[in-house]
Amino acid sequence: MKIGVIGTGYVGLVTGTCLAELGHEVICVDAIRQKIDLLNNGGCPIYEPGLIELIRAQRQAGRLSFSTDLAAMAPDRDAIFLAVGTPPKPDGEADLSFLEAAVAELAPHLAGFTALVTKSTVPVGTGDRIERQLAGLRPDADVAVVSNPEFLREGSAIGDFLQPDRIVVGTDDLRARETMQRIYAPLTSKGAPLLLTDRRTSELIKYAANAFLAVKISYINEIADLCEELGADARRVAEGMGLDARIGSRFLEPGPGFGGSCFPKDTDALLSTGRAAGVPLRVVTAASTANRERKRLLAARVAAVAGELKGRTVAVLGLTFKAGTDDMREAAALELIPDLQRRGATVRAYDPKGMEAARDLLPGVTFCRDAFEAGRGASAVVILTEWPEFRELDLVRLAEEVEAPLLIDLRNLFEPESVTRAGWDYVSIGRPAVAAQEATAAVRPAVARAAGAAA
Ligand code: NAD
Repeated sequence: MKIGVIGTGYVGLVTGTCLAELGHEVICVDAIRQKIDLLNNGGCPIYEPGLIELIRAQRQAGRLSFSTDLAAMAPDRDAIFLAVGTPPKPDGEADLSFLEAAVAELAPHLAGFTALVTKSTVPVGTGDRIERQLAGLRPDADVAVVSNPEFLREGSAIGDFLQPDRIVVGTDDLRARETMQRIYAPLTSKGAPLLLTDRRTSELIKYAANAFLAVKISYINEIADLCEELGADARRVAEGMGLDARIGSRFLEPGPGFGGSCFPKDTDALLSTGRAAGVPLRVVTAASTANRERKRLLAARVAAVAGELKGRTVAVLGLTFKAGTDDMREAAALELIPDLQRRGATVRAYDPKGMEAARDLLPGVTFCRDAFEAGRGASAVVILTEWPEFRELDLVRLAEEVEAPLLIDLRNLFEPESVTRAGWDYVSIGRPAVAAQEATAAVRPAVARAAGAAA
């Protein structure tokens, strides 16, 4: 089928590329010329594992192209996906201005029957609103507005799109249903469930799912805090909970609090919807508040174990909101690092993919080539993002770089035993803090050298 995608961000680019992979002919449009030029020159404006290779393959196959020319793209498309941003307004309500601008730009160029598909996460009733907007601009247009929320996760977006847990399509228009069924046939024929609903239900499914996941994270984070006080092990508690099929083991990993472009904004937008509808969403409110508070107190958590931070150096490993992406939106680093600096600490940081995006957001930070350079002279090393390479970190070598071997692991990447054996004091989430084991020359060369020099 002939498909257009408006917006080549994390969702639009993955959607367009994967739809091409499914055999459709796709044109992706973005308002930012540099992004389109980069894509047309074989580059990729975002980091997402496997994406650049898939873009190259689909362009070569002649199924995927990029353009800024929305007017040329629109007329002959069976479906046009809207994948523009819906960022939060100051009061938490979703800002639909990008979506409305895209619809206004598109309207004059619609020709023939078009399914206009909202991939962006939008509040219930947005489909109706787009329909009214189109009726004002192009009363003659033969268009059906469809909700098709996206559930991909950054870092595993391609797999999530091509092997989805479910595809949700919200429309009462039979032609649009058929179009959507044909678009997703390569996935549904392999067993992907397609849930057909009315549009409002589909719009709400996305928020209800994300808010539920946010609740799950905030819940396990608070249980982890309790574990720390009670001397229990949060990971085993989560394991014991997760083996219950009614609960499930995923999303039960305590950490620094959720971030990213979805959970914080989508919980806030759902709360805003609840307020407008006069329905108090107390559970979601609590999850959102707990998360905000958790992130606000991260530097205090560091100071509580590292002591006075003034004049000392803290190394931060991992800046992005999660591993596998360069996305810095609502990352915990944006709360932790400025607070460490306010407390007088010098911050050295390293992230495998996020430093370019982080540079402008985190003034005064020394960005380093690797974890060892970041650790140089540090009184504490904080792990903030669960990048696989940090799991493999040579802690013995890192210990040689730091001033004090204190590892504050906000992602529970290590077994305490292996860290303390490498000579570190180890503080993680939801587990008792443990002190370094007896240092030996083999595991603490820096200390051994210092002792040798003193003798
Ligand atoms: P993004 O900011 O990365 O990308 C949006 C893109 O749209 C940008 O490239 C921007 O230039 C472009 N754009 C804006 N207005 C335009 C216009 N008028 N014409 C052409 N291009 C235009 O955003 P994203 O992370 O891809 O999110 C997009 C939507 O998908 C949001 O509603 C988000 O909530 C939802 N979503 C995101 C994720 C995720 O993991 N990022 C997952 C599921 C759903």
